[in-house]
Amino acid sequence: MSTRRLVVTEIRMKLSNVMGLGDNTALDFLNSTVTQGASTFEFIESGHALVGWLHAAGLVSHDESRALLQMPISELDAQAAQARELREWLRSEVARWAELEKGEVSIDASVRLNELMAVDDFFRQLDSRGDLVLQRRWSSPRQLLAPIAHVFAELLSMGETAYVRRCEGTGCTMWFYDHTKSHRRRWCSMALCGNREKARNHRLRQATATSSERTAG
Ligand SMILES: [Zn+2]
Repeated sequence: MSTRRLVVTEIRMKLSNVMGLGDNTALDFLNSTVTQGASTFEFIESGHALVGWLHAAGLVSHDESRALLQMPISELDAQAAQARELREWLRSEVARWAELEKGEVSIDASVRLNELMAVDDFFRQLDSRGDLVLQRRWSSPRQLLAPIAHVFAELLSMGETAYVRRCEGTGCTMWFYDHTKSHRRRWCSMALCGNREKARNHRLRQATATSSERTAG
């Protein structure tokens, strides 16, 4: 009896593989959970992961992230759960908005984003180069969602709906902002989806050609 070996190609993905593919911080936030075929990856599974995501996205500095990690873990975890819920709600809001020619922001979206941004606490500081910089005063884990709300408010107020798109890769859930000159971007990345889809289309074309040859013969 022959022994068949089952070869399973496991996809492994790290935050660094997907961060930046959205070419927009708000869309990168939607991509903080990714489904690729049968595998789903979650990059804000805990409060610490949420702080790590904010730092990787450039929304908090290294020093701020270190201070944030000192906050009670249970409160940080609760914010991560809120962030995941907010993300899925924003995903449907962005999808609806992106369908419109001239994106109108829903009342629900403006109310929710405004509430989250209202807990932000800024002050100005003069830095060593003589620049006046805006800094945040972090007093509560509740503020963790404020910078996220801020990047979505920016997207909805200034983004071009036509350039906000979902990756065309089969089974891929990623979003991106098409900043290319031709505005013909179709994939989250060539490495993750583009090459695979091209190979798949090539196989489909070959199969169609073979079956039409058979029909003709
Ligand atoms: Zn993709």
